Amino acid sequence: MIDTHTHLDNPQLAEDIDAVMVRALEAGVTHMFIPNVDDESWPRMQSLQARYPEQIRVMLGLHPCDVGEDWEAVLDRYEALWAEHAADYIAVGEIGLDLYWDKTTLDRQLAALHRQLDWCVTYDKPFSMHVREAWGPTMEVLRQRACPELKGVLHCFTGSTEIAQELIAMGHSLGIGGVATFKTAKVVEVLREVGLDQVVLETDSPYLAPVPHRGKRNESSYTRLVAQHLADSLGLTTAEVDHITTANARRIFRM
Ligand SMILES: [Zn+2]
Repeated sequence: MIDTHTHLDNPQLAEDIDAVMVRALEAGVTHMFIPNVDDESWPRMQSLQARYPEQIRVMLGLHPCDVGEDWEAVLDRYEALWAEHAADYIAVGEIGLDLYWDKTTLDRQLAALHRQLDWCVTYDKPFSMHVREAWGPTMEVLRQRACPELKGVLHCFTGSTEIAQELIAMGHSLGIGGVATFKTAKVVEVLREVGLDQVVLETDSPYLAPVPHRGKRNESSYTRLVAQHLADSLGLTTAEVDHITTANARRIFRM
């Protein structure tokens, strides 16, 4: 099982990170992909990867909530890292658009997103994309940029069936995590329509813990709870959900 989006470097997980890793491995989570957020997360991620080189893969990108006034200089530095170390990074992420926290930075967010999507094409890497209250502009960008060379994961997918179908038709995939287990979530209904062929599992830990841990700290071992929930809801076994989504993750992230 692969947790395709987990902020293991987050300070909330720091004090017992070794126990977190042991629990993940015991739960059958063999690989964990850490998305970058900003300049602070990057060194933390790298030291974690050095500690767990078999299990951890890192992504490099700038989170839409952290596209500050200096965003061009930040992306210049990340671009230089990509040029030199592309083989070491599993995806461009975490990128995207977030209009929940700040609508005034949309232009900046869009420019940063386009520039980082270029890296996906240049270095032949998938993206891990965050979308919050921004499906309109996100779909506009993805329609504009649609090409066989650009494929990625819409992480923590909570969009409609129509959006899911359009994303899948463009070659993208859906990252499904703890939100799918919430009572009000429509995610399972969407998956009933679109199937699991372009679905990967994730936790987004330490955020968005699945039921029965909702509201508490999330961790990568809970990937199994997401798989179990999908299995129960879709009439499959957890092993089947694991098999399908792990194969998808290996294909999408070119492991
Ligand atoms: Zn994230």
